[in-house]
Amino acid sequence: MIVMKFGGSSVAGAGRIRSVGEIIVSQIKRRPILVLSAMGDTTDHILEAADTAIKKGFVSIEKIEEVHLKTIAELGLGKALQKEMKNLFWELGSLLTGISLTRELTGRTRDYLVSFGERMSVRITAAYLRSIKLEARAIDAWDAGFVSDSSFGSAELRGESSVRISSFLYSVIAEGILPVITGFIAKDENGNITTLGRGGSDLSATVIAAACKAEEVQIWKDVDGILTADPKLVGDARPVERVTYDEAAELAYFGAQVLHPRAMQPCMKTGIPVLVKNSYNPQAPGTRIEAGSDKNTPLIRALTSKTNVILVDIASTRMLGQPGFLAEVFREFASKGVSIDMVATSEVSVSLTLDADQELGPVKKELAGYAGIEIKTGRAIVTIIGDVRRSSEILRQAFGVCEEAGVQVQMIAQGASKVNISFIVNDGEAPELVKRLHRSFFPPEEETPKKKTRSKGKTP
Ligand code: ASP
Ligand code: MG
Repeated sequence: MIVMKFGGSSVAGAGRIRSVGEIIVSQIKRRPILVLSAMGDTTDHILEAADTAIKKGFVSIEKIEEVHLKTIAELGLGKALQKEMKNLFWELGSLLTGISLTRELTGRTRDYLVSFGERMSVRITAAYLRSIKLEARAIDAWDAGFVSDSSFGSAELRGESSVRISSFLYSVIAEGILPVITGFIAKDENGNITTLGRGGSDLSATVIAAACKAEEVQIWKDVDGILTADPKLVGDARPVERVTYDEAAELAYFGAQVLHPRAMQPCMKTGIPVLVKNSYNPQAPGTRIEAGSDKNTPLIRALTSKTNVILVDIASTRMLGQPGFLAEVFREFASKGVSIDMVATSEVSVSLTLDADQELGPVKKELAGYAGIEIKTGRAIVTIIGDVRRSSEILRQAFGVCEEAGVQVQMIAQGASKVNISFIVNDGEAPELVKRLHRSFFPPEEETPKKKTRSKGKTP
């Protein structure tokens, strides 16, 4: 049994859903369980509609209706589906009307709203798969056993989900049915719809795989796997053949939006390999994520950067040799709900980074009482995911590039997971620096020594 997850762009319209059909047919013997995201940008469109409802008191779901109805028409799907979809549009429209009247959107209603994207996409895709003679059934995640806590917007699945999911899916599969399950969503114990955070369908897929002891999870996207850098920044970014779970998690966390940051956890525990593939180019080998290191681990696997980061420097002589000082500092951040990313400390100071969208006023006020605190905005984290057993080599090369680029590194941290080296630079310097680092660590083909020796006669 395998789990195949298709992201939004892989099911964005009729043509894409047909390709998904072909991919599934080609692997049908491996008994797939499907997990789907909302079609294309539907989640964003729903959130925009909610915004319009609040700000302008006006309900508009035309864009959402159009994409789905056009797809149904182009796939030639029947009346029953159209009726089911009309009901969902009606419910979505009514909910937005409520929001437009109250001009209020709670986390709970927001999750209820965005759940329509996944619910519509599984219904359309399952109907299409039936039309090509596969016995597919659309299933809402809560009917398949997904129970979460009530942290709307980024809910955590409850422990009992796993047993519920496996017993439900084993019985569905035993009937010879191909399950097509909504990613991203769940319900809490009171029956409220919740979501697992943006991009959460990856996590739904790996949770199902772990629960059902699948032999593999395939994450189908619109790029040839995990790339060595963000292709928007680096023109010749190329797919990475293989990464470990740790490396994939670090990449997801530090700005490479390839996978949901928490998605690796279920597979890490069970050792199920994850394959990241391109539904627009199924022949490409993609990236394989699994445990352990391979024989020829490269010096570095990939580079990422995350902009709009705040650097906080806290200095206090009280810190010297005093137990509990750091705990006190971190408690201030925790109590004000501010989440910390990177940390570096010396005897008398601690530097840390935060996402810029957090309210820092209250923490600053508290800390200013007993330490010097300096807040620097407009910073970026550049992260190198690589073989940290060779960290000195990586650092020499990386800092050589920084020096050449005239960039001063403002903080550095080497992650405990032993795969990442991160450093802070100014926001504006990050794009060019990433380009230069990529060129240094992944020289363009014509610059590699291998290629040079191949061009006969020209080698000295
Ligand atoms: N549709 C949701 C999102 O766009 C979940 C997902 O795609 O995984 O974030
Ligand atoms: Mg999406």
